[in-house]
Amino acid sequence: MAPTTSNESEYKGIAASPGVAHGPAYVFIKRDLEIPRRMVAPEQMEEEIARFERALLATRQQISQIRAEIEERLSEEEASIFDAHMLVLEDRALIEDTIREMIDSGLNIEHAFQEVSNRYIDAFANIDDEYIKERATDIRDVSRRVMNNLLGKRDSGLDRMDIPHVLVVDDLTPSDTATLDRTKVLGIVSNQGSRTSHSVIMARSINVPCVVGIKDFSSQVQLGDPVLVDGFDGTVLLQPSDQSLFRYGKIKIERQNIQKRFQAVKDLPAATTDGKTVRLMLNIDGLESEEVLTRSGAEGVGLFRTEGLFLSGKFPDEDEQFEVYKRIVQQMSPYPVTLRTLDLGGDKNPHSSLYGYQEANPFMGFRAIRFCLENTEVFKDQLRAILRASAYGKTKLMYPMISSCEEVVAANVLLEEAKNELMKRGEQFDPDIQSGCMIEIPSAAVITDLLADHCKFFSIGTNDLIQYMLAVDRVNDRISHLYEPNNPAIMRALNFIFESGRRKRVPVSVCGEMASDPVYAVLLFGMGASELSLNWSSIAEVKYLIRRITFADARQLAFSVLRASGPDEIAQLLRTFQKTHLGIEFPSMKNW
Ligand code: PEP
Ligand code: MG
Repeated sequence: MAPTTSNESEYKGIAASPGVAHGPAYVFIKRDLEIPRRMVAPEQMEEEIARFERALLATRQQISQIRAEIEERLSEEEASIFDAHMLVLEDRALIEDTIREMIDSGLNIEHAFQEVSNRYIDAFANIDDEYIKERATDIRDVSRRVMNNLLGKRDSGLDRMDIPHVLVVDDLTPSDTATLDRTKVLGIVSNQGSRTSHSVIMARSINVPCVVGIKDFSSQVQLGDPVLVDGFDGTVLLQPSDQSLFRYGKIKIERQNIQKRFQAVKDLPAATTDGKTVRLMLNIDGLESEEVLTRSGAEGVGLFRTEGLFLSGKFPDEDEQFEVYKRIVQQMSPYPVTLRTLDLGGDKNPHSSLYGYQEANPFMGFRAIRFCLENTEVFKDQLRAILRASAYGKTKLMYPMISSCEEVVAANVLLEEAKNELMKRGEQFDPDIQSGCMIEIPSAAVITDLLADHCKFFSIGTNDLIQYMLAVDRVNDRISHLYEPNNPAIMRALNFIFESGRRKRVPVSVCGEMASDPVYAVLLFGMGASELSLNWSSIAEVKYLIRRITFADARQLAFSVLRASGPDEIAQLLRTFQKTHLGIEFPSMKNW
């Protein structure tokens, strides 16, 4: 933190999503509650029970209010999640066990309730049944509310943000981001996080300025404090002075003018001055508006992260998924849509009860295709839903986190089974639907020539490829400085994948965040990407740069970068390229 004029304090973090936002802070922290422990005399027990009943009643009222709000804002279906919470509150066994525990232990009701609810949570979480495991999550949520009411505390919840705020969090999970009311979030500041954590990617996709990795920021801020977020260079100002507000007002206008220049080419082809084109596609999570899908200037969807639909606590069934996939395929038609099968796990864990245990290394754990190949019913529900959507427009299917040919073969067997099941049901689908895989694990990068025999296309996931190649957890801000796309190892791996694809005549696209950065986009194009899939908000600026260069410029950049000996030299090459061909400075994946 650096003191500035007036009461203003300046903090530096990682610039995670571009833009400038200013507004009152909304501090959202999920701390472990401190549960008091004290003896209760027998004559006080009646009052303890009365306190418990009042807390249960207050919780019921809160939940029915939230249910009504969610129903109005989203849908009856989303709201029905809270019916399960009501059932927990009405569970006589839980209530009676709590009272018995208090009488037996002679300790206060908070302590008794914590003991009993933890016993219930553990019992449910350890049963090998998805539905029952979800009940553990319900009990955890409801218990926290009851406990807050017993303690007379208010748990600031994201659902209570009634006017637009800058959201200040310790860490934001993708499920928190999925449930955000996007009209109420001006900007986000987070103590933890990194540029490629999924909640940050989601923030970028909804165009909310975001700065992450400012240790302890949330403990410096009070609800309502004015905060300014500069997502271009990672600065956050607490109590910004009038001078700063004026300065940032000007920056905002400059950025808007630059954006206007970018937007002017949005609907023109992504073609170099000598006529070589690259297809620019969209990365989506299924929650985008029709406007974003159809007016971004993209030529289809290169990555639909379908797990976005699975993060709100309940897995959608085949029909529910089909409706979403079909709508998007129809909206994008005649352009293609690549649906990536479920990539749950890592930092996209809807609730820990999914696994029944906490993983020590979730990014190297039970994630994506590994989960799907063991939960074949969940996987086949999804494959059938995707296949059915393919009857409504050009659709492709992509497997995430592939590390061997055997995994692709196993997934393709299930795909054939799903096709046969649909045929028996007389349902329509595209029998020639193309399936391909993500190249995001080093072992897959090395065997792209072998994988090519089982795949119609590859898409490079640079977010994971970098983390796995460099052994740098992509969401750990303590080591984010080691997450280095400019490491020559990364450049060589990318080049190797493009070359293998070329030799085997399998098209290679890129859908990791590198593709959303204009200069990296040019570099990937120069290396051989036939298609780049990006955030909708980056389409215009990537097009703008591509339309100002020749293909030879892109090839030359790739050639020089591949000959460079280290990250500094590569950064210098990229910086010079940007200066020469763009003349405008704008945010980049690395602060060059
Ligand atoms: C990637 O890893 O680059 C990618 C696109 O997938 P995700 O970010 O969803 O892991
Ligand atoms: Mg990935």
